[in-house]
Amino acid sequence: MAVPKRKISRTNRDKRRTHDRIKIVNINECPRCHSKKLAHHVCQACGYYKNTEIIPQEKDAKGKPIKKEAPKAEEKEAGSKEKEASSKEKEAEVK
Ligand SMILES: [Zn+2]
Repeated sequence: MAVPKRKISRTNRDKRRTHDRIKIVNINECPRCHSKKLAHHVCQACGYYKNTEIIPQEKDAKGKPIKKEAPKAEEKEAGSKEKEASSKEKEAEVK
């Protein structure tokens, strides 16, 4: 087994760890459906980006889009900022 020749100094260890922090995700409100979405990304709720339908949505008989549950994989990627936002949303829904 390879063994390090000498101890890594506190400075070098901390310099390596400067890149380990969780990035803050930039979340905006969708101008069309007012749900939370990633900035410069297609809205996952309504499938629109800059008033253009990118992801065609399934529509019911009245022409309204059928709501689907948001994918959970996105929540895992997002940092603590989204968790705060989602908890605030839940609080708003309770009221
Ligand atoms: Zn939307």
